[in-house]
Amino acid sequence: MNMYTLGIETSCDETSCAILKDYQVLSNVTLSSLKEHKKYGGIIPEIATRAHLNNIDKVLVAASKEAGISLKKLDLIAVTHKPGLGGALVVGLNFAKALSLALKKPFIGVNHLHAHLFAPFLNYPKRLKFPFLGVVISGGHTEMYRVDDFDRIKILGQTRDDACGETFDKIAKAYNLGYPGGPIIDKLFKEEYKNDFKFKCGKIGLDLSFSGIKTALIYKKKEIEKKNLFNADIKRRLVSSFQYVALETIIRTILEAKSKFKMKRIVCGGGVIANKYLRRRLESEEKKGIKVFLAPFEYSGDNAAIVAGLGFYLYNIKGKKSTIKLEAQAN
Ligand code: AMP
Ligand code: MG
Repeated sequence: MNMYTLGIETSCDETSCAILKDYQVLSNVTLSSLKEHKKYGGIIPEIATRAHLNNIDKVLVAASKEAGISLKKLDLIAVTHKPGLGGALVVGLNFAKALSLALKKPFIGVNHLHAHLFAPFLNYPKRLKFPFLGVVISGGHTEMYRVDDFDRIKILGQTRDDACGETFDKIAKAYNLGYPGGPIIDKLFKEEYKNDFKFKCGKIGLDLSFSGIKTALIYKKKEIEKKNLFNADIKRRLVSSFQYVALETIIRTILEAKSKFKMKRIVCGGGVIANKYLRRRLESEEKKGIKVFLAPFEYSGDNAAIVAGLGFYLYNIKGKKSTIKLEAQAN
């Protein structure tokens, strides 16, 4: 008997619903409120929360239609209950609880950061083997884990201040490049400019720090502007040097952890994993005995398919259950 799992994700700016048949994705519908945040150059929680409220029912209907599965056929509802923006999480969690009551189907709360660690295995469950080194690089988080099982996930290192994606976004804002900054800087990046400026990215053991390099880029811009030399070419050289150092520092930290904990598998997810240079570099680390799994583009940012995926495993294999009392846990 196949099992149909509905996933619901509303932790930040994406309202997302997905339906999985066992571990196969039948639909994954995501509506982002990103455009509404554009003029502020960062996510405004109030706007994100209202967008979830306005859209979640439509996104659910679209996911059900695309999958060709009516809500009555669902066996399980998996929902992100942590971490994220408080109000945003509450919308998805309450919606899941109401559906669970109305349909008389179980629901399970999922940590969506953990869900990102299984993104490369959606549709390909046979590729999944424990233990592995898990990395989440996103707009709100930059974390590294030792993953021994679906429910045995231990944090090894994280950013001490800004997240990596957030740093891309803040630098792009300061440089008037647009929002979100990650994909824009990714496009502007030219490897030949990587050493044009000698920026440094903070690393303390397996922890990282991005606030220093962010400030350095803002000050460098001011310094060059004073000399009337700031133009599109310099801008490109600056952001290329930034991207190179930031991503190479992350890669170095991942490799250090891999050796320290003798890991043979590296699994990466989160929005920043869409970065072309980062993907190429990480893939180049795959050699004899070392496997690298990267979240495919469609599952790299926040989305409900990954939430349904981990929920399916936690419920079926680990026998986990959630009660109606489950609370949303913000950052
Ligand atoms: P998430 O928080 O997982 O939804 O991902 C959103 C974050 O990923 C934002 O901070 C984006 O700027 C960042 N991002 C998306 N695409 C890229 C890219 N190609 N390169 C670097 N960062 C990216
Ligand atoms: Mg997002």
